[in-house]
Amino acid sequence: MKLDYVTIFPDYFAPLTLSLVGKAAQTGLLEVQVHDLRQWAHDVHRSVDDTPFGGGAGMVMKPEPWGEALDAVLGGETPACLVIPTPSGALFSQRQAEELAAYDRLVFACGRYEGIDARVPEYARTLTEVRELSLGDYVLNGGEVAALAMTEAIVRLLPGVIGNPESLTEESHSESLRHRLEYPVYTKPASWRGRDVPEILLSGHHAKIAEWRREQAEALTRERRPELLARAED
Ligand code: SAM
Repeated sequence: MKLDYVTIFPDYFAPLTLSLVGKAAQTGLLEVQVHDLRQWAHDVHRSVDDTPFGGGAGMVMKPEPWGEALDAVLGGETPACLVIPTPSGALFSQRQAEELAAYDRLVFACGRYEGIDARVPEYARTLTEVRELSLGDYVLNGGEVAALAMTEAIVRLLPGVIGNPESLTEESHSESLRHRLEYPVYTKPASWRGRDVPEILLSGHHAKIAEWRREQAEALTRERRPELLARAED
């Protein structure tokens, strides 16, 4: 998979060289390219923002540098899906991650200030598929952290990135857990600071363990995220 990031803070993407994503880049499973938006800003200050039409606080990202950036980055070779992180987008979910993992190429357009001029996503849709996605119902300072979080959720689904692919099957929000939260997990020692691992997990009885885990997943979801229970009926 090829991943491109357009940003005014290229250094934000240093973590892509670490851990499983970094390893996937090293082994050639991923090709990562980070682009500084300011290379497409041509005034003396390389400015990428201006005051908002209609008034109001803050600055808005200008369409011209973004237009040139998208022409350059989206042009040619493999068709891409353009992801624009924004708090006003559809909520990014495990399902979105699964869908995006099927693309050969993703381009992330990271906004700052009060966001990107609204004509930019409109224009981008004439070039390629565009998804405006929110990481959650809160406001970050920029799209970089959101792009990194989305990248991690997507890339770990690619074959070869996680050592044991079975780790992906029974996870929170996965289909095999019927979109429940994952059951509690434990490791050795069986007793720690007066707290014992539930007996059933030491029994070796696989069917009973599976049933216990299903019940735990159900109870945890009911307690913490009851709205997820409806999703299983989708
Ligand atoms: N004025 C915008 C609003 O109220 O919707 C918020 C702009 S925010 C300060 C600047 C940038 O951070 C956005 O353009 C987007 O790239 C990113 N951002 C902030 N919150 C986000 C979220 N929840 N999900 C994804 N991206 C977010």
